[in-house]
Amino acid sequence: MSETTEKTRCLIIGSGPAGYTAAIYAARADLSPLVYEGLQPGGQLTITTEVDNFPGYPDGVKGPEMMEDLKKQAMRFGTDVRSGIVTKVDFSSRPFRGETDDGKTIMAETVIIATGATAKWLGLESEKKFMGMGVSGCATCDGFFYRGQDVAIVGGGDTAAEEATYLAKLCKKVYMIHRRDELRACKAMQHKVFSTPNIEMVWDSVPVEVLGDPSGMTGLMLKNMKNGENRKLDVTGLFVAIGHTPNTGIFRGQVELDEANYIKTIPGTTRTSVEGVFACGDVQDHYFRQAITAAGTGCMAAIEAERFLGS
Ligand code: FAD
Ligand code: NAP
Repeated sequence: MSETTEKTRCLIIGSGPAGYTAAIYAARADLSPLVYEGLQPGGQLTITTEVDNFPGYPDGVKGPEMMEDLKKQAMRFGTDVRSGIVTKVDFSSRPFRGETDDGKTIMAETVIIATGATAKWLGLESEKKFMGMGVSGCATCDGFFYRGQDVAIVGGGDTAAEEATYLAKLCKKVYMIHRRDELRACKAMQHKVFSTPNIEMVWDSVPVEVLGDPSGMTGLMLKNMKNGENRKLDVTGLFVAIGHTPNTGIFRGQVELDEANYIKTIPGTTRTSVEGVFACGDVQDHYFRQAITAAGTGCMAAIEAERFLGS
């Protein structure tokens, strides 16, 4: 075996809540896991401020701090954490093969995929500027901070519809902004939205600027796609719900993906279409997308990897 080729019992790809939870369990099961952190060490929570719904933190915790805690916990039991990206995999035979951007080849008896998903954003400068200060990508996570206020949500799919009805229970008024005059969401979700009195639909419109001052967001400028007119909404929050992209590019052709490119797992397990390869967290879940569900499935993946190796 050359210097650039290494062996591991368990290769974990990704360092979000799913990857680090898998690492904690795999390390405690003596699998000596190897974690590749990827381009976003700590995952999606490193771009948020307050996390208030992860059990065990009664006063809430900053996202980056929580991920640092998870990393330390994984390392305490001997996890080998590497900065770098897995650029290619070959799951056609065991041991499985992974190639990294620092020129290493990893031969792994089991692989846990925890590469998450990336939220799509509108791409406005002002959206970036007010991220965490009015702009959010997750109503379940941040809706609580906007109780009694007027907010806007952009998107016309099931996520936007579901999040709009969730926000309507907490907020005074919810403007649901969609770029067309018909929702993509299923009929049942549409009925829910249209029958909620404090949701106002804003059709054929897109946000063009998030307005605010150093204390945070104070309004949202919209453009009507049909007549080109601008409209200003006095809202303190903007929830962007225009979809996610699962980070599965390198797994195409290696494990089965669903029609939206999420990794398919056998229901109730983290098993993929390849025995010995497991998937956990947002990369296989377009529905819950929470840190705690990612961590829960990370735990499942490590236990399944351990049992697979013992069988
Ligand atoms: P991620 O956190 O997405 O991590 C994926 C990891 O995979 C990253 O480390 C990345 O670098 C790595 N990776 C990707 N490709 C490769 C590769 N080729 N090689 C190596 N590594 C790779 N959830 C809550 O429960 N509470 C909240 O308050 C909350 N707030 C949020 C705020 C924001 C702004 C966002 C965007 C999300 C929020 N969420 C919240 C959702 C939560 O962050 C996700 O559900 C969770 O992070 C998913 O964890 P994961 O481990 O599956 O993936
Ligand atoms: P989605 O179905 O892809 O919908 C994204 C929405 O955002 C679309 O309405 C799209 O408009 C709009 N959009 C995309 N880019 C935009 C941009 N740049 N500016 C403005 N608007 C933009 O994504 P999703 O709602 O997250 O759903 C993903 C999958 O999960 C779907 O299969 C969905 O059915 C499923 N899901 C199911 C449930 C449930 O069953 N309860 C809940 C949530 C999600 P257009 O319509 O014009 O394209």
